[in-house]
Amino acid sequence: MMHKTFIGLGSNLGDSEQILREAVEKLRELGVVSVSKLYQSPPMGPQDQPNYHNAVAQLITDLAPLALLDALQSIENESGRVRSRRWGERTLDLDLLLYAEKNIINERLTVPHIGILERDFVVIPLLDLDSELKINGQSLQSQELVQHSTLTVLADQTWAD
Ligand code: ATP
Ligand code: MG
Ligand code: MG
Repeated sequence: MMHKTFIGLGSNLGDSEQILREAVEKLRELGVVSVSKLYQSPPMGPQDQPNYHNAVAQLITDLAPLALLDALQSIENESGRVRSRRWGERTLDLDLLLYAEKNIINERLTVPHIGILERDFVVIPLLDLDSELKINGQSLQSQELVQHSTLTVLADQTWAD
């Protein structure tokens, strides 16, 4: 059984574009992938860190939610991610934003991802992939933060081809 999932990608250490490209390559081993445009965004949390590169990938996969989280965390670790301060700089962050229509709450995994509707660097790339996407019945297009975006487009949807 295949499930439609969305993964948020972020990086602000190292060669971020290259790191995100490699992450997309690895996601392709887990299923069928399509990607949003590539964006630059100001950091969330501590402000004394570089801007982020952000994108979202749609992944159609047969992995169960926790198996997918395991795979995402392995890819983060392979990028050399070191966990320091909360919302601090990192080579790669892969967040499971949505898993089909599921609501999941457990020790390791909350889906939809916390804060999804408050983060323009998540909502705007999601809209590249599905302009009619709704989360818990809420349309994304109408969100205030879409009108007042802090993002810059770095590349169109062919960036990871
Ligand atoms: P945020 O989650 O607010 O974006 P972050 O991405 O910097 O912050 P991480 O350090 O990457 O946070 O992850 C912390 C923990 O979040 C992970 O160990 C993981 O178990 C948990 N987690 C809960 N829900 C999710 C999810 N939907 N996707 C990824 N990790 C999740
Ligand atoms: Mg995150
Ligand atoms: Mg994370």
